[in-house]
Amino acid sequence: MYKIVSIPGDGIGPEVVAGALEILNRLSQKHGFEIVVEEHPFGGASYDLHGEMLTDETLEACRNCDAVLLGAVGGPKWESLPHEHKPEAALLKIRRELGLFANLRPAKVYDALVEASSLKADVVGGTDFIVFRELTGGIYFGQPRGYDENKGWNTMVYERYEVERIARIAFEAAQKRGGKVTSIDKANVLEVSQLWRNVVHEVHRDFPEIELSDMYVDNAAMQIVRNPKQFDVIVTGNLFGDILSDIAGMITGSLGMLPSASIGKSHALYEPIHGSAPDIAGQNRANPIATIASVAMMFEHSFCMPDIADEIYGAIEATLAEGLRTADIANTGRSAVSTTEMTAAIVRNLGA
Ligand code: NAD
Repeated sequence: MYKIVSIPGDGIGPEVVAGALEILNRLSQKHGFEIVVEEHPFGGASYDLHGEMLTDETLEACRNCDAVLLGAVGGPKWESLPHEHKPEAALLKIRRELGLFANLRPAKVYDALVEASSLKADVVGGTDFIVFRELTGGIYFGQPRGYDENKGWNTMVYERYEVERIARIAFEAAQKRGGKVTSIDKANVLEVSQLWRNVVHEVHRDFPEIELSDMYVDNAAMQIVRNPKQFDVIVTGNLFGDILSDIAGMITGSLGMLPSASIGKSHALYEPIHGSAPDIAGQNRANPIATIASVAMMFEHSFCMPDIADEIYGAIEATLAEGLRTADIANTGRSAVSTTEMTAAIVRNLGA
């Protein structure tokens, strides 16, 4: 039995999460495992009900489940709230409270969407790698930080244990994938990167079968757009990962296609990388694939069922091959299907 906490959130969040729950339902019927889903409010939806973006009750539920499925939070209605009440603050809080130290973003190009990439089809076709970004350390959290009239300062700092734990899960992922890890840093300029590099190499001793290479971040940005097929698993710090995972995501096509996982020692949260898309909320036009692919990541990383993850990716691929497109990925002139139609087709392609 798997217990999942669903926090649909705002805007298109509830629409895409509903699609993902249908996928879970079908898989549980097909394979005979039990899934219990408990829904809790989060973000603006929670603020309107309880005056708080993240209540203790929602947080407690997230602590006591096997995986959290999040839609998206935020929207114009809550933008003018003070910083500490904003949806972004609630997102940071939930990640911190659950100790989610690694953010995983796959960059996988579906054959049927090769033409949707900003890169040439022969460059991007067949791309399939994943970025492991350190999420709770580095320059976004380092002290001292601040600014005055004439000076601004931040501190990039990593402790050994922070590098060790993310390096280890990146090597473990590579064992189940193509057996290659690229560690990205700026060790030619930054001392903190020298520590990062040393520790990654130390952890590598436990994974002698994995091929490890180091790459400077400026070169990595170039290599991702020049020859993305060379990568299997990328591991990097918070700041570099923030930038590189966006580049990696965008070469694969649309925002509506990109899943993510945030992983900690004992908790994990799965969410599409897009926001609440207030411009199309409530119109049944959102692309549910990013959230459905986030469920695939859940099977892979939380439930250790990579075969089921592959089944989900296969059903997405088959649906795209049939020519179904939501508006965000439809070429001009091609008619678009709704969120519910896209979901129903993926469920059908999962088979009975
Ligand atoms: P956004 O990702 O919501 O939307 C950007 C554009 O992409 C919009 O045109 C939108 O219609 C489109 N889009 C996004 N997801 C789509 C999907 N699944 N299907 C089809 N089209 C899709 O980013 P934004 O407009 O900058 O932000 C809107 C709100 O979302 C803001 O309040 C922001 O703070 C919030 N946000 C939340 C998260 C999160 O919950 N993790 C992430 C980013 C932004």
